[in-house]
Amino acid sequence: MQACHQLLCHDGLAESASDDLTSRLINERAQANIQKDGTFSVVPRMYGGVTTAGELKRIAEVAERHKVPLLKLTGGQRIALIGVPREGLPEVWRELNMPSGHAYAKAVRTVKTCVGDRFCRYGTQDSVALGIEMEKRFGGIPLPAKVKLAVSGCPRNCAESGIKDMGVVGVSGGWELYAGGCGGIELKGGEKLGHFKRPDEVVEATAAFLQLYREDADYGERTFRWVVRRGIGKIREEALGDGEKRKALANRLAAAARAEKEHCAAETETVLMKGA
Ligand code: SF4
Repeated sequence: MQACHQLLCHDGLAESASDDLTSRLINERAQANIQKDGTFSVVPRMYGGVTTAGELKRIAEVAERHKVPLLKLTGGQRIALIGVPREGLPEVWRELNMPSGHAYAKAVRTVKTCVGDRFCRYGTQDSVALGIEMEKRFGGIPLPAKVKLAVSGCPRNCAESGIKDMGVVGVSGGWELYAGGCGGIELKGGEKLGHFKRPDEVVEATAAFLQLYREDADYGERTFRWVVRRGIGKIREEALGDGEKRKALANRLAAAARAEKEHCAAETETVLMKGA
């Protein structure tokens, strides 16, 4: 697993690296989280925490058909189907017909969003649109450890951007980007990485940060520890200081995202064909 991650990190190797499915842990092979009783939780992706009536109906029907014992709203704004037996996983995934939320992976998991300026009267920016864009670009990309993102539409911070691995906060005339926060095993506020006027600048800066993290952090090292170890100033300089370097980092992450997409499609096919 470590070898796979390392290979996928570096320029040029991302698209040529091949993965050995048997090297993945059971959660990754099953695309679900094993629970204490040996059943699994299935968490489909809901980009930016947004869903539709059709999706909700489908999830409800699958849960009823398979007698899923617990349907749980997660902290990452998704719906977990908990208690699915291993042999039921291929059918559940097939019937859901939704991408995996990678709730089991060392990867970008969720991008939590608040309502933002489309509906909230306090909103200064469209946090939902930016959150969806970021999750579509970065969701599932393998990283040294799990990474959670959030986008809030104003400094009231309803998506808890301040305690995420990377958090975006809409402010008047732009966006602030924070990194290295944690609301779990240690409570830590993120450090300010920069201020950006446009959403595409936020996306590029996030990509550069994530790729530097992929290339530099130790396996299993969460961003909040890596940011303390390397220093936010040094990280800012390396990831964002030089426009060319920033673009190169973002391009390497995009290559890794393409590779992961192909790998994921093959892995899903395997899960559906052979069972987990
Ligand atoms: S963070 Fe601001 S924009 Fe978002 S829901 Fe809260 S008050 Fe509204």
